[in-house]
Amino acid sequence: MNNYDYIVLGGGVIGMTTARELAKRGASVAIFDRGILGMEASWAAGGILSSMRPWQEHPDSAELSRRGKALYPDYCESLKDETGIDPGYFRSGLIVIDQDHIDRLLNWAQQDKEIQCIDIDNLPAAINLPQISVLLPEIAQIRPPRLIAALCKSLKLLSVDIFEESEVKKIITHNSRFTGVVFDKGSVSAGSLIITAGAWCNSILKNINREIRLKPVHGQMLCLKLKQRELISIILDGGHYLIPRLDGHILVGSTMEDTGFNKCVTETAYRELFDWAISIYPDINKATLIKHWSGLRPASGDQKPFIGSITGYENIYINAGHFRKGILQAPVSAKLLVDHLAGITSFMSLENFNPSRVENSLKIA
Ligand SMILES: Cc1cc2nc3c(=O)[nH]c(=O)nc-3n(C[C@H](O)[C@H](O)[C@H](O)COP(=O)(O)OP(=O)(O)OC[C@H]3O[C@@H](n4cnc5c(N)ncnc54)[C@H](O)[C@@H]3O)c2cc1C
Repeated sequence: MNNYDYIVLGGGVIGMTTARELAKRGASVAIFDRGILGMEASWAAGGILSSMRPWQEHPDSAELSRRGKALYPDYCESLKDETGIDPGYFRSGLIVIDQDHIDRLLNWAQQDKEIQCIDIDNLPAAINLPQISVLLPEIAQIRPPRLIAALCKSLKLLSVDIFEESEVKKIITHNSRFTGVVFDKGSVSAGSLIITAGAWCNSILKNINREIRLKPVHGQMLCLKLKQRELISIILDGGHYLIPRLDGHILVGSTMEDTGFNKCVTETAYRELFDWAISIYPDINKATLIKHWSGLRPASGDQKPFIGSITGYENIYINAGHFRKGILQAPVSAKLLVDHLAGITSFMSLENFNPSRVENSLKIA
């Protein structure tokens, strides 16, 4: 049996950033994924480094998002220096066109001195924007597959042991203490366990008779390619968005579907996304479809993640439930949890993200 300081169970962006933070502080770490690292919700993401509606975000989540936004440029720079892989951080700006929300957006921006809003009057004629549209110039994007590749290489350089295609089947405990995991090819022991299994956390937690209020929310996305690149900023219209990449690809996202753990892509979703995209950017009619994919967002229902220890077990922790903000909030959530594990006072109290809180209602907003 191996012996690690930590086992990180689930190798999405939350697990990878958590494992990296632990390893950087000198811990020995093993990370498990039943597939290949990063290939579930984390790969599926658009990579917008903002919440969809920051003006109505839960204050605790808003603080994580604010810090995530501030941390990202340096985080990407250090990943690039360390691994040679560029996660593609790019401050493209984000244009909000959702007319129902413009007043709330302006109100929110006025109250926060860090937010800059610009009225738009010089967008390419090819783009149909409503009369009132507002640009948030400081919003950035990254390319999730590149972020994952960089994190994966960083973990290898930090000597984290990576167990891919290794599904954890059982958590072993003794006298309310975690001792190890059983996976499909053997067992491994460690001092502590951190559960980062995204939408699947409850299937792990049921091993120790625990449950959190978490559900999967299916999101589908299209990648298109246009001959000419006219759009630079992200366009956000309620839950729908266009994300232009620097290489001419455009992502069109995303659906919000309650389909349990089924993540099949559908013709209906394709039409919903394509028709909306054409209504904003008619040239999309001439675009080539490159890929249509989907992922399961881990949704906590009260719009903030679960970060902290599992009641009754002093050495089992969780970091999950980041819903539509997991890419944005991953590095800061990892820092918050690992500060706690190291006994360091962090930028927020973990109590705000207590996994045993009961106030959330499983209402998906
Ligand atoms: C269409 C879409 C668009 C999105 N866009 C954005 C965006 O623009 N910006 C943003 O910030 N966020 C976005 N998100 C949200 C973001 O992708 C998620 O919040 C984030 O990826 C969650 O990461 P995770 O590591 O918790 O989960 P996941 O990436 O799903 O990782 C969980 C991992 O756990 C593994 N696992 C589960 N059970 C076991 C087991 N028993 N044993 C071993 N391994 C196991 C799985 O294989 C998986 O790899 C989007 C999500 C979707 C679906």
